[in-house]
Amino acid sequence: MTRHICGDTHDEAIENGATAHTIQIMAAPLFELTDVHVATTDGTEIVKGVDLVVNVGEVHALMGPNGCGKSTLASALAGNPDYEITQGSVKLHGDDIVDWDPDVRAKAGVFLAFQYPQAIPGVSVRNFLQQAVQARTGKDVSTIEIYMALSEWMDTLNMDTAFMDRFLNEGFSGGEKKRNEILQMALLEPEIALLDETDSGLDIDALRVVADGVQAVRGRKPDMGVLTITHYQRLLDHLQPDHVHIMSDGRIVTSGGMELVETVESEGFDAFAGVGG
Ligand code: ADP
Ligand code: MG
Repeated sequence: MTRHICGDTHDEAIENGATAHTIQIMAAPLFELTDVHVATTDGTEIVKGVDLVVNVGEVHALMGPNGCGKSTLASALAGNPDYEITQGSVKLHGDDIVDWDPDVRAKAGVFLAFQYPQAIPGVSVRNFLQQAVQARTGKDVSTIEIYMALSEWMDTLNMDTAFMDRFLNEGFSGGEKKRNEILQMALLEPEIALLDETDSGLDIDALRVVADGVQAVRGRKPDMGVLTITHYQRLLDHLQPDHVHIMSDGRIVTSGGMELVETVESEGFDAFAGVGG
């Protein structure tokens, strides 16, 4: 039995009366970046003009050498105040979100799984997710509803249910942190999931659990878009992205399919040096 605790499906939204906004939602791409520039608060430009369109249900992979600006882009998209989008637009279902606060973006369905998840001592996984789901849905979610949803997803993600009463990310192993990020994604049912190296530091088995977890969430919410940042072919073999983008020095220099991943594996990112200017 599918347990949805977040928003209406599009079909339900239409049954509830197709508004002009619903029509706009269906016409505009899910997530559209146009000439996005991002600078740090001291004014250093890190991301230097990125164009990207993620349509409903698509998986995109963003690859590139260390320091090229992948995490900066993902953080800026989620509204991290350490970064400023200095130019360009970021549209979610046609609405420009650049001026929206991070909590408004999260409520609208922009989700970022962090490369380095932070510990929050004194806040359990269960309490955190109850608050987060309430913020996302704007509805009260009972303790039992959260317990049921968590239990179901923890089973899918091979996590012990005792985990829900641990403090968020405190003393979590690398694999536990990453599974916890997927658990959050599963409960929050985002519109667009930005996964920043959710596969790093995982052994083969944990990697498969994370990949299967992402696929399970997509099965539950097929219209969700995914932008996954990764260095590794392994995750992408599982996820089979629709589009692969190679980033270099703050720009996307090449876009294509899985064949680009093969090139990265065999020749490294140097194969794309000088491409795209
Ligand atoms: P990637 O995720 O592709 O490895 P990052 O986005 O983390 O790269 O970093 C890109 C560049 O921006 C690096 O040179 C990094 O040192 C710099 N950078 C990132 N965040 C900040 C910040 N808050 N202040 C200053 N420099 C930063
Ligand atoms: Mg990074």
